[in-house]
Amino acid sequence: MKAIAVKPGLPNTVHLTELPPPTVSDIPNGRGVLVRVLRVGVDGTDKEINAAEYGQAPPGYDFLIIGHESFGQVEAVGPNVTEVKPGDYVVATVRRPGSSIYDLIGTNDMTTDDTYFERGINLRHGYMSEYYVDDAEFIVKIPKGLKEVGVLLEPTTVVEKGIAQAYEIQRRLRVWKPKRAAVMGAGTIGLLATLVLRLKGLQVTTFAKTPKPYLNSDLIEAIGATYEEIPIIEGVKKHGPFDIIFEATGFSPVVFESMQALGKNGVLVLSSVTGGDRKVDVPADKINLGFVLGNKVMVGTVNANREYFEMGVKDMAQAEAEYPGWLSRLLTHPVRGLENYEELFAKLTNPNGAIKVFCEVAPL
Ligand code: BGC
Ligand code: ZN
Repeated sequence: MKAIAVKPGLPNTVHLTELPPPTVSDIPNGRGVLVRVLRVGVDGTDKEINAAEYGQAPPGYDFLIIGHESFGQVEAVGPNVTEVKPGDYVVATVRRPGSSIYDLIGTNDMTTDDTYFERGINLRHGYMSEYYVDDAEFIVKIPKGLKEVGVLLEPTTVVEKGIAQAYEIQRRLRVWKPKRAAVMGAGTIGLLATLVLRLKGLQVTTFAKTPKPYLNSDLIEAIGATYEEIPIIEGVKKHGPFDIIFEATGFSPVVFESMQALGKNGVLVLSSVTGGDRKVDVPADKINLGFVLGNKVMVGTVNANREYFEMGVKDMAQAEAEYPGWLSRLLTHPVRGLENYEELFAKLTNPNGAIKVFCEVAPL
């Protein structure tokens, strides 16, 4: 079968490769699910992997099949799989268990191991191929009615986890009833965070740099949120105080501005993976004092376990009911066929208005 791979450690090595297709019996205990891939999304992580800033090949290989935002259809299942059947639409989770206690209880997104295993990212092949196989434990069923937008589930799970963790942490307050939220960044994650917070009934202000109007600001306003170009430190007077802030700009200095804009008892969720070495001067005393006197919390979030994929499916279904057609407007840049991987990466590296770039591996 065809697959798109990189040579980790060497920049710009994305290429088409050919390898034997997997089979259901590759997975032990009759728990294999063989999936025919339909669509795979790409994001900043794929860009960094192709730039050799991130990612490692699986043991015994000198290449890594990329792709962690999957969507496909079940082709065959092992004798002990009851959860899905051939023909079902599915998305696979990304991280695979290590050995910490968190991995052992099904929350491998919270691993404390130094090494983590992520399909398409680190030490495990991804989904950018004609087929993949995995254990049913890591396969999440998608209702047929969501097939057009199913490829957005993986990025949605990043948002689901961050927001669920924030609510979980805020149980400390006993009566927490958040009203105002800020989202930093209006890329795919910022848009999806705005959506999930709107579905919870919050007033949402999304801060980004691009002057409106453009597609992303239109999408934000279409779901009743506010788009702002001013820095959050100023925006807080107009739209705050913020009970929850979700940071998804990919630009770490924004974290320190967000810390200053967070309301009393508020929670700040950090989701940007910033591989660089940037340094900034910050008003440390002021930020610290605000956190201490305001009982504020800041939490980092990465990856998502099965529970958040299931939440994502529910929120995507609610989004389709409440804002029909909104999710599909995020699917701006399809690229047909694995053989067009160069076009896929050209669109990813030069976004030009792109929200989600994805490969149509096979027709839906
Ligand atoms: C992926 C996550 C992953 C993270 C760190 C993100 O792009 O969506 O699943 O945990 O990168 O590797
Ligand atoms: Zn990702």
